[in-house]
Amino acid sequence: LVVLSGVDKHFGSLHVLQDINLTVGRGEVVVVLGPSGSGKSTLCRAINRLETIEGGTITIDGQPLPEEGKALAGLRADVGMVFQSFNLFAHKTVLENVTLGPVKVRRTNAAEARRRGMEILQRVGVDSQAEKYPAQLSGGQQQRVAIARALAMDPKVILFDEPTSALDPEMVNEVLDVMVSLARQGMTMVVVTHEMGFARKAANRVVFMADGQIVEEAPPETFFTAPRSARAQDFLSKIL
Ligand code: ATP
Ligand code: MG
Repeated sequence: LVVLSGVDKHFGSLHVLQDINLTVGRGEVVVVLGPSGSGKSTLCRAINRLETIEGGTITIDGQPLPEEGKALAGLRADVGMVFQSFNLFAHKTVLENVTLGPVKVRRTNAAEARRRGMEILQRVGVDSQAEKYPAQLSGGQQQRVAIARALAMDPKVILFDEPTSALDPEMVNEVLDVMVSLARQGMTMVVVTHEMGFARKAANRVVFMADGQIVEEAPPETFFTAPRSARAQDFLSKIL
């Protein structure tokens, strides 16, 4: 579904993505791990074309990423993104946050968007907060609204960039539980996270990045018990 082939990018003299080859199949959950600065966020942002690339290709469903305009808005709808810092519209209610995209980009009519929006809010357990504003919600609730907003677009894949890193510890699990259930329902997901429990429970594959390269790729049980590279062994010894 998502295919990166020979992807290359620099930030000035920093070679942030080096010959990245990665395929994410339909329904697959790929967890991306790696030290700070290894290029994980840049990789996610490239898939969504929030960053341009200098070499290689990225395709979604066989189609190269569109460059601009309506096609780009369509891509952003197909490729949902959930950030560390929720990024909700502060001056819109929870339900409006979820219905805005479908109405504007998918041309869903308002009543239908609200009906589906409530259904999705219920799925992530925040339907009782629908008329509130983001600031009135806990971090865990806001992040679940951000997931609902991505889901409302009926995306082909959702990218998660450290979705629980900004949360108080007691709220981490309510967000991870929603993500695990999405994974079990067959959502295609690319997840940058250091939550090993999630990786073990939900990932089909772990991709380990260091210095802009994919150093190792393995099923979670293999990666966590028998990492091959010295870089991965060193990384795991620090976080486990
Ligand atoms: P973290 O775990 O800290 O989130 P990461 O693996 O997500 O790290 P990236 O955010 O992808 O890393 O950044 C990779 C490198 O690129 C870092 O050294 C970062 O400083 C640099 N970088 C990121 N964005 C830019 C930018 N817009 N301009 C210049 N350098 C950048
Ligand atoms: Mg990052």
